[in-house]
Amino acid sequence: MRKAFIAGNWKMNTNLHSAVVLAKEIAEGCADVVHEGGLTVAVCPPALYLSAVSAALSSSPVALGAQNMHFETTGAFTGEISSAMLKDVGCTYVILGHSERRHVFGESGTMINKKVHAAISAGLLPILCVGELAGQREAGETEAVIERQLHEGLSQVGVEKMAAVTIAYEPCWAIGTGETATPQQAQEVHAFIRKTLEGLYDRSLAQEARIQYGGSANPGNAAELLEQPDVDGLLVGGASLKGADFVAIVDAAG
Ligand code: PEP
Repeated sequence: MRKAFIAGNWKMNTNLHSAVVLAKEIAEGCADVVHEGGLTVAVCPPALYLSAVSAALSSSPVALGAQNMHFETTGAFTGEISSAMLKDVGCTYVILGHSERRHVFGESGTMINKKVHAAISAGLLPILCVGELAGQREAGETEAVIERQLHEGLSQVGVEKMAAVTIAYEPCWAIGTGETATPQQAQEVHAFIRKTLEGLYDRSLAQEARIQYGGSANPGNAAELLEQPDVDGLLVGGASLKGADFVAIVDAAG
């Protein structure tokens, strides 16, 4: 039985004070819904505020995640942050291959795959994002794009390591646009992702894999999306910046 997983991606938003306030609001609001063995909730603040948010969440079941990391463990990589550093400040999760990393910062499938390996080796749990651009959907290429991104991102990631991985389906045209995939569109691609995982691994792994949807999820559409049989959770951007909205989304999954 797959457990729901709701994660908030704060992107390059908040400041030190508002990040801590938001973390506390979410921790308090989720206290009754998130319990051991139940659903998973995580917040992914900007890297600079991870330590402060980690402290704010210290007695809460809400987990901490990062939005990105470098694949090398240490050395001359100016401006980068390693998996060990993320562990050091209390991260459990790390978002990898977000569409903004792929399309704004030019991250390749190979680079993302190296990050997936580095994260798992360090004991972090990667959330691997995949998703098609609007033009690719219009051209009927959605499945081919998703399949390629899964093959690249999970290259040489063995069955035993896959328990660490969450997949997030994030259609690029729905991210930050207010245009959400319909529950049917999300379900279709999630079922395709599960089928692809079955081909790459096996049926039982595919059935156990957690697949989040991301793209303008909000308190008004969360329940409908989460009702879909292959949607196991949500990766939430904009709506995760308002404590009450994020808690309402968590409630919808609880
Ligand atoms: C995201 O960036 O992961 C995301 C899903 O953003 P939004 O919810 O704002 O579309």
